[in-house]
Amino acid sequence: MPKAFFIDTTRCTACRGCQIACKEWHELEANKTYQEGSHQNPPDLNPNNYKLVRFTEFKDGDGVVHWNFFPDQCRHCVVPPCKEVSDMALEGAILKDEETGAVIFTEKTKELSADDAQAVRDACPYDIPRRSDSSGLLSKCTMCIERVQNDLVPMCVKTCCTGTMNFGERVDMMALAEKRLAEVRKTNPEAMLADPDFTSAIFLLGYSPDRYWEHAVSEAPAPMNRQQLFAKLTSPVRKAVRG
Ligand code: SF4
Ligand code: SF4
Ligand code: SF4
Repeated sequence: MPKAFFIDTTRCTACRGCQIACKEWHELEANKTYQEGSHQNPPDLNPNNYKLVRFTEFKDGDGVVHWNFFPDQCRHCVVPPCKEVSDMALEGAILKDEETGAVIFTEKTKELSADDAQAVRDACPYDIPRRSDSSGLLSKCTMCIERVQNDLVPMCVKTCCTGTMNFGERVDMMALAEKRLAEVRKTNPEAMLADPDFTSAIFLLGYSPDRYWEHAVSEAPAPMNRQQLFAKLTSPVRKAVRG
């Protein structure tokens, strides 16, 4: 049965336990980083951070400042555009595990050219994949599939003590998401679920998407068809990169 995350951002305290737990479980190297005017640290996803708690501030009409936290990660899309694009360059570099729904970037991604890796990143509606400059490996959240296949929850879920990170059968996560959405809407009428039909990491937002980082919600959540994918691959930017 396909699995899913339900990520209730209205409960997140930005403790970053999930971010650190992910790094520890996957034995990812520390990043050299420094304060850039935001507590979001490191500033962006990178090959050593599959999970990043994003910080966004806004002031409402009454002058009250709100601080929104968004524990960003791969959405394990139901029909993953990253895989569609990757398969056109190199079949099998990105896999989808039908049992869990996990989208897995393999070691074979090292064989993708820099241009093709960039096309994979461009295809992602949530700007998730990152490429290692040294090895060429494309990486992102793995759903901790080795844990899930042994009946353990992903490490970020195990660590979160606020109820933000949830994981289980997709049907159960959808029910939980709808229940929490109804509760949150009593005080936050703008609350919404981000692309629940297209992803396996369903985020509950307490405010409209423009109150979060720009890729919190897909601009075009529907899976791309071949024609759209081809258009992406042959976009002016890509042509320019290729020279
Ligand atoms: S561990 Fe939970 S509360 Fe802490 S930053 Fe992650 S999602 Fe938010
Ligand atoms: S979120 Fe991006 S990287 Fe993850 S499965 Fe979807 S398209 Fe691929
Ligand atoms: S599921 Fe695993 S790999 Fe993905 S963000 Fe959570 S801890 Fe990291």
